[in-house]
Amino acid sequence: MKDEIIHAVTGDGFIKMTAVSTRHLTEKARRMHKTLPVATAALGRALAAASMLGDEIKSENGSLTFQINGGGPIGTVMAVSDSMGNVRGYVGEPALDLPLRPDGKLNVGMAVGTDGRLTIIHDLGFGEPYVGSVKLVSGEIAEDVAAYLLESQQVRSACALGVLVDTDQSVRSAGGYIIELLPGAPDDAADWLEERIRAAGNVSAVLDGGKAADLIYGVLGEREPRILESHEIEYRCNCSRERIIGVLASLGAEDLREIEEHGENTEVRCHFCDAVYTFTPEEIKRIAEEAKK
Ligand SMILES: [Zn+2]
Repeated sequence: MKDEIIHAVTGDGFIKMTAVSTRHLTEKARRMHKTLPVATAALGRALAAASMLGDEIKSENGSLTFQINGGGPIGTVMAVSDSMGNVRGYVGEPALDLPLRPDGKLNVGMAVGTDGRLTIIHDLGFGEPYVGSVKLVSGEIAEDVAAYLLESQQVRSACALGVLVDTDQSVRSAGGYIIELLPGAPDDAADWLEERIRAAGNVSAVLDGGKAADLIYGVLGEREPRILESHEIEYRCNCSRERIIGVLASLGAEDLREIEEHGENTEVRCHFCDAVYTFTPEEIKRIAEEAKK
């Protein structure tokens, strides 16, 4: 069963829901970045959220950057999605280890912190990107996403994100959902939804052996949801030698000369996938000369 994203709407047309299952891509991120459980959970939640928000972007070359800086010990939590919900990401301190919360859950809120902001950048691939930002509510990420949608987009929503880490530290289940109340929804729809969300239970429990569609039917089942669209998603980095050269070129002549005069090969590591790109001093020189033109 591959990771997937599903969009659905209730039969009455008042409630829209997007759900993702992200176990494989979260496990890939864990192995790539060697995250310990609390960092796996924080990164996994951010990847799931970024995937759902990024998949809403209609232009093919668009992307969505999801960044949390909460002042907590994990540092920055970063996730980027393309316009098809494929994601990549990293956290500042992958080896962070924290005691569990009193209820036995991983303490993502403490790892992330609450003294900071969630920033989301919508880049359509043309024109100026749209940057929205909201003060963190809990650092647990799902609530912060709902706060963002309300403040920045005036959308009444509910968001749930979950990552279940197994005893061997691998990802047992992961995913989440975002539910939006559409304009014209009757007042009691919000209460009904709240009740249904409570009854449907934890995301990671539903996805443990279940699939993204189970999240949809679990919450919206009584209102005859229609699946509008679904497709596979995966962990996908778009780095390349050309892109890295572009980044190097943007450093400016002064810095590039310093690197070149060092006389050794320069290694540039991609934050998102750990790929290493090596450049000789001659290549650095050529990049500097190209940049000057
Ligand atoms: Zn990469």
